[in-house]
Amino acid sequence: MSDSCVFCMILDGTIPSIRIHEDDTTLAFMDIHPVQPGHALVIPKAHHPNLFEAPPEVVATTARTAARIGSAIQRALNPPGMNLLQCNGEAAGQSVMHLHMHLIPRAMNDGMTMNWDLVKGDVNAIEAIAERIRTELANDAG
Ligand SMILES: [Zn+2]
Repeated sequence: MSDSCVFCMILDGTIPSIRIHEDDTTLAFMDIHPVQPGHALVIPKAHHPNLFEAPPEVVATTARTAARIGSAIQRALNPPGMNLLQCNGEAAGQSVMHLHMHLIPRAMNDGMTMNWDLVKGDVNAIEAIAERIRTELANDAG
């Protein structure tokens, strides 16, 4: 845990989040600044700043959860495409220094670039999407 880390504060509940999945080692929740509808994040519960400082098994368990969440988003929203994106360092667009993986549904010509602005989304709309993803997660074998 890191006292100043936004994601650690989400993990301990200090900052509220729209959670879609939690297990012993990872948490998945909706990005409150969605660059596209359905934008979700997967983080390890242990604080590691980035890919280079995290033990490989932490990266692996985070990726395993990301694959499951990505499949659930695909079933829930059926987007034409999806990015699994993992950023390391400010120059690469990392804004929270706690290892994380983005799942970003994509559409043709949706205008998204790698360096998007953080614009707070409509919480009710995000919660409605989260519920559709949770339903798909409940339907899979886990
Ligand atoms: Zn952290």
